[in-house]
Amino acid sequence: MKIEDYVRTIPDYPKPGIMFRDVTTLFSDPRGFRMAVDALVQLHVNTDIDMVAGIEARGFILGGAVAHQLGKGFLPVRKKGKLPHETISEEYDLEYGTDVVEIHKDGIKKGARVLVIDDLIATGGTAEAAVKLINRAGGIVVGSTFVIELPDLGGRTRLERHNVNVQSLCTFAGD
Ligand code: AMP
Repeated sequence: MKIEDYVRTIPDYPKPGIMFRDVTTLFSDPRGFRMAVDALVQLHVNTDIDMVAGIEARGFILGGAVAHQLGKGFLPVRKKGKLPHETISEEYDLEYGTDVVEIHKDGIKKGARVLVIDDLIATGGTAEAAVKLINRAGGIVVGSTFVIELPDLGGRTRLERHNVNVQSLCTFAGD
């Protein structure tokens, strides 16, 4: 089985027309989960990084495992209002409305090399907000890696505009 074979597709969730790529079936399978984490780690065994940033919430599961395996620190990129210390925020557009992600202001040492991890890149808005936060906090984004990419939604181009390299383990057509 390939990684994409472990991903369940739920049509019309959370609203009509969206094909939701559900990674809980990948995470719950011991071979699938190991295959995904191993593949993410393999892409970065020779990358010079200091920490892994995972985007709430599925990026925590993957990013935590990758940081552990690479022997690096972990930076949580959280939804608004969850972090207890002083934060910096970035707003990004959703299809309807906006959302906000935050990191601790002192969460990154100046010049630290940070790898961004999430389960899926669609329009790239969420990951772009994470990249902006890391840059503002004095970090250097050395790459962004996703289990799933939806190439039709243009997230790759959006991150590449910030000179951020994008890698993904599998792709699904459409949105
Ligand atoms: P975006 O900011 O458009 O790149 O969306 C990425 C975020 O939204 C990720 O955290 C994904 O988990 C979630 N997401 C967006 N589209 C989908 C989809 N079709 N299936 C599952 N998750 C999605």
